[in-house]
Amino acid sequence: MRTLTGVGSTPLSGVGAARWYRPEAGLTLPDRPDPSAVDADAELARFADARDAARESIRDARDRAAERVGEEEAAVFEAHEQFLDDPELVGDIEAAVGDGTPAEHAVHDRFAAAIEQFEALDGPMAERADDLRDVRDRLLRALLNTRTDTDADDGAALADLGDLPAGTVLLAERLTPSDTAELDPDAVAGIATVSGGRTAHAAIIARSLSIPAVVGVGEPLREVEDGAELLVDGTDGRVVVDPDAATRGGVGSAAAPVVTERVSTADGRSIEVAANVGSEAEIAPATERGADGIGLFRSEFLFYDRETPPTEEDQYEAVTAALSAFPDDRVVVRTLDIGGDKRVPYLDLPDEANPFLGRRGIRLSLGEHRDLFETQLRALLRAAAHEGGEGLAVMFPLVSRIEEVEDAISAVESVAADLDGEGVDHAVPELGAMVETPAAVFLADRLAERLDFLSIGTNDLTQYVMAADRENDGVDAYHDPLHPAVLRAIDRTVSAAAGTDAWVGMCGEMAGDPALTELLVGLGLDELSMSAVTVPAVKNRVSEIDSAEATALADEALARETRTEVRDVLGVDGE
Ligand code: PEP
Ligand code: MG
Repeated sequence: MRTLTGVGSTPLSGVGAARWYRPEAGLTLPDRPDPSAVDADAELARFADARDAARESIRDARDRAAERVGEEEAAVFEAHEQFLDDPELVGDIEAAVGDGTPAEHAVHDRFAAAIEQFEALDGPMAERADDLRDVRDRLLRALLNTRTDTDADDGAALADLGDLPAGTVLLAERLTPSDTAELDPDAVAGIATVSGGRTAHAAIIARSLSIPAVVGVGEPLREVEDGAELLVDGTDGRVVVDPDAATRGGVGSAAAPVVTERVSTADGRSIEVAANVGSEAEIAPATERGADGIGLFRSEFLFYDRETPPTEEDQYEAVTAALSAFPDDRVVVRTLDIGGDKRVPYLDLPDEANPFLGRRGIRLSLGEHRDLFETQLRALLRAAAHEGGEGLAVMFPLVSRIEEVEDAISAVESVAADLDGEGVDHAVPELGAMVETPAAVFLADRLAERLDFLSIGTNDLTQYVMAADRENDGVDAYHDPLHPAVLRAIDRTVSAAAGTDAWVGMCGEMAGDPALTELLVGLGLDELSMSAVTVPAVKNRVSEIDSAEATALADEALARETRTEVRDVLGVDGE
């Protein structure tokens, strides 16, 4: 038995047989023949057939992804199909084939040039290179499959991610969002990757599919061979090779029973346990796992993978669907939080280097993209008048100034006045701010006076308090919400709101760790919002807690000076 460590991404465990995903394997090109020996017409026909086959496989992948993770995520495959029809790419390949280049070499050469061009662009456009690789590999696979005069090594290839045998633990250098969206959660027992972080898009999709995942395992993962038995433990961030019976035995028993009712601590303090939702497909799992509503509806997902922004009607429908799923609960919609790591191609956002201290979140909504903000507010105020709309709450991301909150509140009032004038049904929902910046922590008392609630976003708050990029594996030891500085920021926020009517929740990933529930209850949070998969465990944990003991635990943790000491107090490891 050997244990490799990485970053736990989906807090579930699974055991299965290792299978490397090597998208490039089996795609070795045959030697280039002399152009005079190439039958150009036959090669053109092979290229046309390969385009048809690639199109079919892209459409299959799209349909599978739409079924498993929703239309929004599946849209990436439509972009892939467009590459197959790109007149420049196709024209150049056909010209090369006409000049005596075999189809697979022509595809390989032309795509290599295009990939290089995208890679040189830096920033989000560079990600298109991955899409091009995906399309190139589908074409090459189709071409090499029909070539009978080569013995291309396809033994190690694993082309069809959507059709893996049950009990597969998928190993990869890293996975793209489109790879992950294709996976069948019933067949894939776990995922482990060499690189990548837990806030990466692919990791979030794996979480929404409830596939156990450990990311960023590093070099040692490469030594694991196909067929090895692996335990992927996404709770503790470890991959165990050849687990012994005791280690395997612990797996599966951890699944907590679903609790549909509201929960209170053993001494009767009620804690709302809500779900974070980052795609339409995550709403059903949130209801199935007994979430008390939605504590973070990341509205930016409505803006991804499309050519133009969603209309007021699109947004109204998405929000009212969420309200209908939770007719008796609160649904907290965060207004658009794009910029930095969250890209939307059609908005031509500035390319800014990490760690995203620039134009993002509310800064864009109140600045150059106020039109988008107002459209979104119209949809939200209309949704607040829809059945179940009294449970709607709206919060603003990345707040750092009182002026922003005042400006956002004025925007809400002016949209309400417009809707009044037009005779359109609407209501003003609860309004809140995310506490994600040190500035918001220091101003929390003033924010709480003006708003109905605050929701602490520990993913960003930790990166800004600690000056540690949340996407950078090299500063994991800094990007730790259990650092005393972050705990003090949380404590200060809750205390600042205590003298007001505002409630305080937490929607960062920290909220979903049952090992930290007692601490968070002790710190005084009223609501915890998390990936649906962890809702049952946290609800069960809340009912075991005594709030006086929780307060004492929080006080003890707050008195510590290092993250190691805090972890000792809480009895959690993770150095
Ligand atoms: C956060 O920053 O903690 C948060 C919940 O927002 P996101 O992860 O979407 O930035
Ligand atoms: Mg955030």
